[in-house]
Amino acid sequence: MNEHYKFINTPLPYAYSAMEPYIDEKTMWLHHNRHLQTYIDNLNNTLSKYPEFQSWTLEELIMNVPSLPKDIQTAVNHNSGGVFNHQFYFANLANPAPLQPFGRLNEAIKNKFCNYASFQAQFKTAALSVFGSGYAWLVVNAIGQLDIITTGNQDTPFPLGMYPILNIDVWEHAYYLKHYNLRADYIDDWFHVVNWDNANRNYIRCFNMGQ
Ligand code: MN
Repeated sequence: MNEHYKFINTPLPYAYSAMEPYIDEKTMWLHHNRHLQTYIDNLNNTLSKYPEFQSWTLEELIMNVPSLPKDIQTAVNHNSGGVFNHQFYFANLANPAPLQPFGRLNEAIKNKFCNYASFQAQFKTAALSVFGSGYAWLVVNAIGQLDIITTGNQDTPFPLGMYPILNIDVWEHAYYLKHYNLRADYIDDWFHVVNWDNANRNYIRCFNMGQ
């Protein structure tokens, strides 16, 4: 992903079929090539009329929505969040994946949730509770502890003062072709392709930022 406008959709670091049999190739293609692309296009279109914001990074746009002109706040919030959340989701997939967290993140998960199974159960409950479009997240909260939260639509954890470690997109386009209406089955399958290596890096980066 390039730093600022004009944003482009960079290829995934794996094939669209790489998450088979857990997430199907067609879903991955549509999700990346159509859904994410649409957020990128809409964000570019919105910024095309505002050269003064074209040097802003995605993170700067997300963090500073209230200081943008009123008529583009909603569009920038929705589409910059849509770009970030999807890129974050794709970056946190791998197959084969380490089937459990490890390293510093694993220690923090054990401290907060007792063990991986308990974390998994709580994360799944949260992901099932999202009504309509949104995400479940593992985050580091404002006091430096792990937390599981959900966000609606394309909202991000940043305005809540939280730093993302891992997310799952639970809007139906993320799973409907393979799992139909069975979100629980999609979540179970998703746990097989969580890139814990990347999540651990996110966790370490968070503390290196001094949070
Ligand atoms: Mn999506």
